[in-house]
Amino acid sequence: MTCFTCKGETEERLTTFTIDIEGRVYIIKGIPSRVCTQCGAVSYSDEVMGQVEKMVDGMKNGITEVSMATYAA
Ligand SMILES: [Zn+2]
Repeated sequence: MTCFTCKGETEERLTTFTIDIEGRVYIIKGIPSRVCTQCGAVSYSDEVMGQVEKMVDGMKNGITEVSMATYAA
């Protein structure tokens, strides 16, 4: 697979995803992703992205400003 941005080589790597929704921050660590060795752009498969969205939804009931989890398929 090549990078969408620069057409460089990508490699599989675990990354951390951070998203800010309505003033609350959700952090998910250890996400399987493709990282461009040239420009550093990160991309996720549809399957992984769907799972990340589910995990963020599941953390919305928390009361802390920052919620952290480790990716689990
Ligand atoms: Zn690139």
